[in-house]
Amino acid sequence: MIKKVLIANRGEIALRIIRACKELNLRTVAVHSTVDSNAMHVRLANESVCIGPPSASKSYLNIAAILSAAEVSGADAIHPGYGFLSENAKFAEIVNEHGLIFIGPKSEHISEMGDKVSARTAMQKLGIPLVPGSDGAIKDLKELKKVAKEVGFPILIKAASGGGGKGMKVAERPADLEEAWNLARSEAKSGFGDDTVYLERYLANPRHIEFQLFADSYGNVVHFGERDCSLQRRHQKVLEEAPSPALKKEERDNISKIIVKAVKKLGYLGAGTFEMLYENGEFFFIEMNTRIQVEHPITEMITGFDLVKEQINVASGKKLSIKQKDINIKGHSIECRINSEDPNTFIPNAGTINNYHTPGGLGIRIDSALYSGYKVPPNYDSLISKLIVYGKNREEAILKLKIALEEYVIDGIDTTLSLHDKIIREEKFITGDYDIRWLENFLDIND
Ligand code: ADP
Repeated sequence: MIKKVLIANRGEIALRIIRACKELNLRTVAVHSTVDSNAMHVRLANESVCIGPPSASKSYLNIAAILSAAEVSGADAIHPGYGFLSENAKFAEIVNEHGLIFIGPKSEHISEMGDKVSARTAMQKLGIPLVPGSDGAIKDLKELKKVAKEVGFPILIKAASGGGGKGMKVAERPADLEEAWNLARSEAKSGFGDDTVYLERYLANPRHIEFQLFADSYGNVVHFGERDCSLQRRHQKVLEEAPSPALKKEERDNISKIIVKAVKKLGYLGAGTFEMLYENGEFFFIEMNTRIQVEHPITEMITGFDLVKEQINVASGKKLSIKQKDINIKGHSIECRINSEDPNTFIPNAGTINNYHTPGGLGIRIDSALYSGYKVPPNYDSLISKLIVYGKNREEAILKLKIALEEYVIDGIDTTLSLHDKIIREEKFITGDYDIRWLENFLDIND
């Protein structure tokens, strides 16, 4: 039984987890760096422990400090949120070794899926369709040239340990291979401390469609449908919607069945996301995320279930409280990621929020840790708010989003609010006829 949860994170996701814990009548412990002493997650948790200086490597990534915070506060479980230590298999293992519950999957699955080469191998064995590519890691340039020729150009060299859209290089033709190989490996080495790379065909105009899965420790597995995350900049998600405007019910049903079967076979536990590329009616696996996703609220809005509460339930050894037949997709939801960035140059900025006003009304949800007078520190990810809307259909959701974006006031720092306002007025967005390349092309034209 879990009684007290330590949240090894900050910002909006820490608040999200605190709220779920309160509903489950669990006590909460916030951890924070010195620059986050006045942060909202610290104010809303029952207790808080300072775990180090502003630099994430010395605080939110500091395993020893987090474990001692758990010990002094008497927490019996740790929720890692997303980012930071959430996909660190070693952390999950150490948490368990200390007799605490890690609210997430088993460390073996975090580790298997964290390495994209081993994830591809595992998925292939489980019958999940992959993007055509190399069978494993690419050893040298000679092998790269050989496999690239077999797979067909253009190709994408990807870092096995990659994340956040980094460590990926395209080679349009054979002459580009050497440069792409060198660049991808050095970016992978400096970004992830591992220069292992593999190869995939670079799909021309796919959509990014991901499926939300959930499993308990009794072999029960359910899926919550898909999210369309094709609106991206530099391979990073900007705006997400659910359900996907591109998918037919039979397509969703067919691929979900295959994925549920695979997750059962894997013996997976907790929340997981299958990220797929979808092109010309076909799905191709790209990666599995073994944590709660930033964009999970849109799934909650169209299904009516609280995914974080369910994470806590299955981690504490309970059976999934939801059956597949109870999960009905209803209406439409859209999420805008609001970043503290210049909306034209995307350069992050920090500073004090001197005026803050949130939109409201039926179907409007804000997941954010901002407040008037809050000082956004320069040390962390630039995501400062998620504006989520729900409508009975896509048209209504877009209308509500338009009104909410007009109402939302975040003064004092630059944000990407105006970028979203621009996107949702575009014909391609309104018709839902966009792919992963559309947003970047649109931004280039409007430079
Ligand atoms: P990361 O873990 O860094 O986020 P992913 O493998 O999830 O990397 O890919 C991120 C994004 O990069 C995808 O959503 C898609 O836009 C693009 N991408 C990845 N693989 C391919 C591919 N084979 N062809 C075309 N685009 C790709």
